[in-house]
Amino acid sequence: MTPTFFAALSAVFGAALGSYLNVVLFRFGTGKSSLRGRSQCQHCKTALRAGDLVPVFSYVFLRGKCRYCRSHISFQYPVVEIAAAVLALLIYLQHPGFLVFSFWLLVWMILLFIAAYDTRYKIISASAFLPLGALALGFAAMQGTFFSGIMLSAPLFVASLLSRGRAMGFGDGFLELSLGWLLGLSAGLTALMLAFWTGGVVGIALLLSQKRYTMKSEVPLAPFLILGAAAVHFFHVDFFPSLPSLF
Ligand SMILES: [Zn+2]
Repeated sequence: MTPTFFAALSAVFGAALGSYLNVVLFRFGTGKSSLRGRSQCQHCKTALRAGDLVPVFSYVFLRGKCRYCRSHISFQYPVVEIAAAVLALLIYLQHPGFLVFSFWLLVWMILLFIAAYDTRYKIISASAFLPLGALALGFAAMQGTFFSGIMLSAPLFVASLLSRGRAMGFGDGFLELSLGWLLGLSAGLTALMLAFWTGGVVGIALLLSQKRYTMKSEVPLAPFLILGAAAVHFFHVDFFPSLPSLF
């Protein structure tokens, strides 16, 4: 049982969790329970067999098409599976202890779900907030980062209040509250700046490249907030080392 073995195991487990997240993402709002019922093709409704459901590999092997009706399989499947595998691996490398690993794995799977859900449906899933908020608040109570969350999310709440949710959704404020609790002040502020920069660049690129994108089209902010959080959590980017890390 070498660390390499556990690292590989984490990645495989992460890919399986990503596969489950995909199922939840697609069945959301269709009234079907994500736990019951067999997975089926979105188009021809053929029940999928075990060989069609291997994370990443099935998508590559089937060249992104359904085995039965040859229709296109959403690119979301392999992207979420690969992201979940990479996250689980990074978490293991950073927090190999079982309890801490489990805590961060749970947190990051919820964050990945929120990012994918916001990209797909342009809204933050309210049902993901309760577990994320509870985990983040528990963490803040132990680490003393309670005010970091309040300070970092306050500008987002004000922006959504003033614009009545048009410039920024209230969901983004709630997400930032949890991220501030989880990251602390200096890392959280760095993550927020990274989110606005990358989100701004992508937003401008979309505006220039596609005519159907207008200033009114919402570029979802949550995936960028979460990407920024990943950069500071896993790669220790910190623009404000003089600020208190925990506050
Ligand atoms: Zn099909």
